[in-house]
Amino acid sequence: MRPGKILIAGAGLGGLAAAACLLKRGFGVRVFEQAPQLGEVGAGIQQSANSVKVLYDLGLRAALDEVAVKPRDYEFRRFDTGELMHKIPFAQAHEREHGAPYYHLHRADFHRILVDKVLSLDPGCIALNAKVTGFSENGGGVTLKFADGSSEKGDVLLGADGIKSAIRAQIHGEMPVHYTGFVAWRFTVPRHKLPANLMDLVGAVWCGPQNHCVVYWLRRGEVLNFVGCPRRAQWEDESWTQRRPWEELKADYAGWHPTIQAILDSAERNECYRWALNDRKPIREWSTGRATLLGDAAHPTLPFLAQGACMAIEDGAVVARALEGAGSVPEALRLYQRARVERCARVVTESGAHGGLYHIVDAEEMKKAFAARNIAKERAQWLYNYDPLTVPLH
Ligand SMILES: Cc1cc2nc3c(=O)[nH]c(=O)nc-3n(C[C@H](O)[C@H](O)[C@H](O)COP(=O)(O)OP(=O)(O)OC[C@H]3O[C@@H](n4cnc5c(N)ncnc54)[C@H](O)[C@@H]3O)c2cc1C
Repeated sequence: MRPGKILIAGAGLGGLAAAACLLKRGFGVRVFEQAPQLGEVGAGIQQSANSVKVLYDLGLRAALDEVAVKPRDYEFRRFDTGELMHKIPFAQAHEREHGAPYYHLHRADFHRILVDKVLSLDPGCIALNAKVTGFSENGGGVTLKFADGSSEKGDVLLGADGIKSAIRAQIHGEMPVHYTGFVAWRFTVPRHKLPANLMDLVGAVWCGPQNHCVVYWLRRGEVLNFVGCPRRAQWEDESWTQRRPWEELKADYAGWHPTIQAILDSAERNECYRWALNDRKPIREWSTGRATLLGDAAHPTLPFLAQGACMAIEDGAVVARALEGAGSVPEALRLYQRARVERCARVVTESGAHGGLYHIVDAEEMKKAFAARNIAKERAQWLYNYDPLTVPLH
């Protein structure tokens, strides 16, 4: 029987995309977000065709085109000489090959586009200040519980409550966390603060010994996004909002190419953020009879393939299709999990492996390693070509 009311814990990119996919198919949906207001941090995010197909299906093409950058290429460069080691052509090639473009977006813009979509389909869909603590279920439904002691009944629960998910903790127990030894820096810089002609409209991964950084343009080329992943001995907080001294950032990139120095020198000194990158072994059991997981709650991943949110959005499209097509909720959640577990586990594993490639110490060895595996071809064959709107569910 078609479920009448679907509860979603978390209004991040994953929860919102799932809500939009479900509302579009005519389901009743309620999203519960712990924060007092909706929003995302001031950083960039990349979206490839495997996710953008879902966004286009939601009718978001014009909204994305208005704020995004469609990069010409994705370049892999050596940290000190700037030598180009590999290139993925993105401009028309990605869209031609995979049916949708590659986008670079500001997270706040992307989040707002999804919120607007959800609210246009159901203005009362999202509840704020609603911290989920757990749930109970029986054959007739699921009850979501909140920190203030209140509860909400529904037919299905999607736990889209992120990397520290309360729903995952209940379904699966604690997921052991392993500090990778790498942290991530992030900041953005407006174009007018950067030297003219610093860099084309491309994304670039600069690869160095035990360290890499990723730079790309946002907001139609008005803002540059920087993410840097150096090794650091001590564990730090797994939080997006910890400010750290600019001097430490600068020291992490001593000896890097003048392009990187120019970007670092343009950063606002008190607007540099750093957090720990942790590993978690992929889990294979996401679901109970009436509850399942989605996005980082199910498969947190290192960001080295730029796919965490893409996977969350794929999840939303597939779970919506499964709930529409299956004869019962438990069957739908089984179909969803079966369709998604292997793919997400592969993304998690390959993301970790890419760290190994980006961080090779010796220049010649790194060049050989890039030459030996054609990343552009590999990703085209298994990652970007996936279509969550048509992938078989059985
Ligand atoms: C450095 C870095 C770069 C990245 N770059 C990319 C990229 O380029 N492309 C890409 O696709 N992905 C990227 N990612 C991954 C991406 O950011 C995540 O995978 C994605 O944001 C996960 O979305 P989500 O909705 O599952 O979780 P979240 O974004 O964490 O959202 C969870 C939501 O649930 C809420 N919540 C949490 N607990 C509760 C509770 N108990 N009750 C109610 N609400 C709750 C939170 O407040 C939040 O709003 C990157 C990640 C990092 C760290």
